Amino acid sequence: MNHITLAPVQPDQPSHLMATYGRQAISFVRGRGSYLYTEDGTEYLDALTGIAVCGLGHSHPVIAEAIAEQAATLIHTSNLFEIPWQTAAAQKLAEVSGMQEVFFSNSGAEANEGAIKIARKYASQQGIQNPKIVVAEKSFHGRTLATLSATGNSKVQEGFFPLVEGFIRVPFGDLEALQEVALQHPDIVAILIEPIQGEGGINTAPQGFSYLEDVRALCNQHNWLMMLDEIQTGNGRTGQYFAYQHTNIVPDVLTTAKGLGNGFPIGAVMTQAKAVGILGPGSHGSTYGGTVLGSRVVYTVIDTIQKENAVENAAKVGSYIVEQLRGQLSGLNVEVRGFGMMIGVELPKACPEMVAIAREEYKLIVNVTAGSVVRLLPPLNMTQEQADDLLSRLVPAIKQFLA
Ligand SMILES: *Cc1c(COP(=O)(O)O)cnc(C)c1O
Repeated sequence: MNHITLAPVQPDQPSHLMATYGRQAISFVRGRGSYLYTEDGTEYLDALTGIAVCGLGHSHPVIAEAIAEQAATLIHTSNLFEIPWQTAAAQKLAEVSGMQEVFFSNSGAEANEGAIKIARKYASQQGIQNPKIVVAEKSFHGRTLATLSATGNSKVQEGFFPLVEGFIRVPFGDLEALQEVALQHPDIVAILIEPIQGEGGINTAPQGFSYLEDVRALCNQHNWLMMLDEIQTGNGRTGQYFAYQHTNIVPDVLTTAKGLGNGFPIGAVMTQAKAVGILGPGSHGSTYGGTVLGSRVVYTVIDTIQKENAVENAAKVGSYIVEQLRGQLSGLNVEVRGFGMMIGVELPKACPEMVAIAREEYKLIVNVTAGSVVRLLPPLNMTQEQADDLLSRLVPAIKQFLA
């Protein structure tokens, strides 16, 4: 094999990367399950998993083997041809979601672009000229022009005007606000929301998942498409395969990505009921969408999640973590919220320093979102012993920060 070894980076070496990310000065060379390792072998507990991506943990042997074997056999042909692994991956996704049709994209934002296009096409089929999609405050839907326009965070939009038109914003979880815009805007055709807002701070609706049932009823009443962005909440993250499965409803359009490939970049937009068939021949496409390799990864990830009972484990170990955090942090004015392995710990003040404290002093990788929320997105298949390891690092880190 032709191995290439990187020369060590010199401290004064100029970088040719666009400075779009605020990066932490650390890199990992190896990962296994819930742990990451630096070049010198230092072990870190990863409670972020590449932002809800590696749900089965790092370098899962079954996924690694599927990738290696498929890469050595056939990586890509084209959507000009039949792709049996893509057909099989779509079948698996339909099975776990209750959706009917699947279109594979390469990322979350692209999956949402597909959903937005479905809403626009749905409108045009009804002769609606200026269709509107209802979106939520504090939402995050991606960084492409249409998805940043849908996003409820002005920082993401700053400098990119004019935005894509046709979005109406309501507070997340506010059913009355939704009923009000329904009366004001007869040209609404869809709603796009996250069941739990991830980037926005692990926000659940005040009334819990029953909000989704109310939204479903409103969508039925007004003939809107109910579109759920499960890019972060999907693939077992919240202790159900998809978060809407905490209820009895099914959306018309569903997007996912992140955990779908366990690190392999792939996303999907799915439809059922009245959204089926809206995107027909020639209306959408992607060169890389659903390659042989990507599709085999999706198939293998879903199959492995099922065989390992990873969703059930996420529910069980996730509620253990929440319960322990509530107990061990009681009296510190923190709020612990979330479902399964999607957990937010809101501290009483902004806590950007928590990332460095956890990493440097406790060898724990976490993320801070919405200013004051420590976000935990550990692997779905984390053991209770590893959860205790997480708690034994996180609790003192938070106590140290708040002291
Ligand atoms: C991450 C995320 C996206 C964007 O996905 P990308 O793969 O980064 O384009 C969209 N919506 C939600 C809810 C997300 O968490």
